[in-house]
Amino acid sequence: MRTHFLAALGAAAVTAVLILSAPARAATVDPADLPKNAGEWPSYGRDYSEQRYSPLQQINVDNVSRLGLAWYADLQEKGGSYETTPIVVDGRIFISTPWSKVYAFDAKTGRPLWKYDPKVPGQYAVKLCCGIVNRGVAYWNGKVIWGTLDGRLVTVDAKTGRKVWQVQATDPSKWQSITGAPRIADGRIFIGEAGSEFEQRGYLAAYSADTGKRLWRWWVVPGDPAKGFEQPELAMAAKTWHGQWWKAGGGGTPWDGITYDPVTGYVYVGTGNGADWPAEVRSPGGGDNLFTASVVAINAKTGKYVWHYQETPSESFDFDSTAQLTTADLVINGEKRHVVMHAPKNGVFYVLDARTGKALSADLFIPSANWLTGFDSNFRPILNPDANYGKTGKGWYLVGFQSHVWNPMSFNPGTGYVYIPTNYGSFGYVAEAGAKMGNQMLSIDITKRPQMPQPKMVDGPRSYLQAWDPVKRKTAWIQPEGTARSGTMTTAGNLVFQGNTHMFNAFRADNGQKVWSAETQAQITGGSASYEIDGVQYIATVAGGQAGFGAFGPDAYHAPNYARLLVYKLDGTVKLPTPAVYTPPTLNPPPEFGTPEQLALGEKQYIAHCTACHGNTAPNGRAVSSMFPDLRYSGQLWTADGFKAVVLGGALQQNGMVSFTKDLTPADAEAIRAYMVHQATLAKNAPPPPRFGPGGPAGPPPAPHGAAAPAQPALHQ
Ligand code: CA
Repeated sequence: MRTHFLAALGAAAVTAVLILSAPARAATVDPADLPKNAGEWPSYGRDYSEQRYSPLQQINVDNVSRLGLAWYADLQEKGGSYETTPIVVDGRIFISTPWSKVYAFDAKTGRPLWKYDPKVPGQYAVKLCCGIVNRGVAYWNGKVIWGTLDGRLVTVDAKTGRKVWQVQATDPSKWQSITGAPRIADGRIFIGEAGSEFEQRGYLAAYSADTGKRLWRWWVVPGDPAKGFEQPELAMAAKTWHGQWWKAGGGGTPWDGITYDPVTGYVYVGTGNGADWPAEVRSPGGGDNLFTASVVAINAKTGKYVWHYQETPSESFDFDSTAQLTTADLVINGEKRHVVMHAPKNGVFYVLDARTGKALSADLFIPSANWLTGFDSNFRPILNPDANYGKTGKGWYLVGFQSHVWNPMSFNPGTGYVYIPTNYGSFGYVAEAGAKMGNQMLSIDITKRPQMPQPKMVDGPRSYLQAWDPVKRKTAWIQPEGTARSGTMTTAGNLVFQGNTHMFNAFRADNGQKVWSAETQAQITGGSASYEIDGVQYIATVAGGQAGFGAFGPDAYHAPNYARLLVYKLDGTVKLPTPAVYTPPTLNPPPEFGTPEQLALGEKQYIAHCTACHGNTAPNGRAVSSMFPDLRYSGQLWTADGFKAVVLGGALQQNGMVSFTKDLTPADAEAIRAYMVHQATLAKNAPPPPRFGPGGPAGPPPAPHGAAAPAQPALHQ
């Protein structure tokens, strides 16, 4: 038995009882005081530890079948997925939406309090790799603070929604955005930026929560050595790079995992992948390329480097190490250790000593990963030389593709398990220096396949929820009804909550058995929250927006927008309205007119400039994007002038469709039209693809993103 965890559960239960009998709340909440505020969810991961564990247990395995909707609120934004985790402080609930807007509601009744629109310019939609998304707000001293797609930090009064201050936290002349939730401790806001693929040099910055003044900035990768280094450790890092990496920025952008630790006074930050993607392209001749794909500890007050642990040296697979970082006290070999736990894209579960960064363990949490052959005695991965596709020139089918991206994991001190949204997938990488997808400098050719057979997968590619035991270093249980693409939340009621494409489910935390389920009419991708008001425990989650993997063709864009904040309690009786009958649009292309040369040019230009937003329609006629319309269904295909008015004239700029005059000629635009007409005709003559979603048939679960998936690295970040 894990007696230490049971003891922790007992302590949490006592805290919950005390809170339930004393509903009065402080006027302001410091997340550091969370043991005194068990009924709230005041920070992205609930408290500084980012465990996403609620000590509330009114809702538990014995009564969860009585869980019903207490209230819901319709949300209006369309065009991106809803990735927010609700924040609950002082009886108010705050959520962010696509386009970086924020809503506030009375957390007990659902009464709308305010909504704030930072008015992100529509053209920012094309400055993004991964959707018009925002993962959440932060709360500090009566203020709600969040980042915007165009790189601002915005602060409003939590009661009124009136602006207090805002600052530009990125360089607006570059392709930088903020999608992650700020973390705040001791009056300091910690935030990074997104977009390693847009020729960035990543950094983590701290701002004053009172004034918005920047306090420090820590650069992830060294700049041009001729200009000197901003931080002494960058001189050491520069020795791990070759060539002229600084010209493309180097990458490493920290866009999600940021955890403040009151025990050490450090901020742990997960850094992004290197850019360009193939290590041999961005750093010819090798090198670890510090501090990409790493966990780094920074002194929260001074911004000075403390330690680093690089999870993927010489990274070539978009292996962001940016997933959420969770701190905990574990008993390992009979000794209590304060640790950082991490499960990034590369498929390895890490337990690091929080004070020193020394790896205590590193274990694959997916089967048959083929980018490494093992670990040395210091838990440094032994890289598979055949997987260095930038050097071999043959390409590589990676097994271990996006094993865990950003969808939050959670840790339950009662069971001792970490709940990981897990993807077991494969993707083929072929290097081509300078190759772009849209605006993204990837240096891989997404139209080519590696010169090797597709690797065999253990029971095929799949997506599931797994419970991982970080002490025993192995999987405790797997629940195939869970998914890689939705965040988790766990409670002292022995429950784990996770959504999927159209349901919200609860599983037993100890053995994974499904114990509750509710139809949501939309996909849940972010994390959920639990809170308590006047003796009643609530579970809050947001469903809506882009269906992501598994969304086919036009449905995800054209289907009705059932974006909602959903709040549940025991014996809740509210019902969602019956979905409208949805009739999918039909393909109605004009007669084909393209010459072979025109079609080839159209395909080339479509892949280069259109795929990132409108999806990849080749080779099997299905698009994976739902941010923007599937162009095969566009009425503009019927007129050359109408098509050019949009593509070159910027007629739909307000929708985010900027003019491509700088990149495309009128002949290019016409070639793209010819190619889309051809693709639409192919799709019209093909059997209908499977479809699911609101109002549609229940449909299959999301397509596993495996070797057979479309040739597009969608949703990397
Ligand atoms: Ca990335």
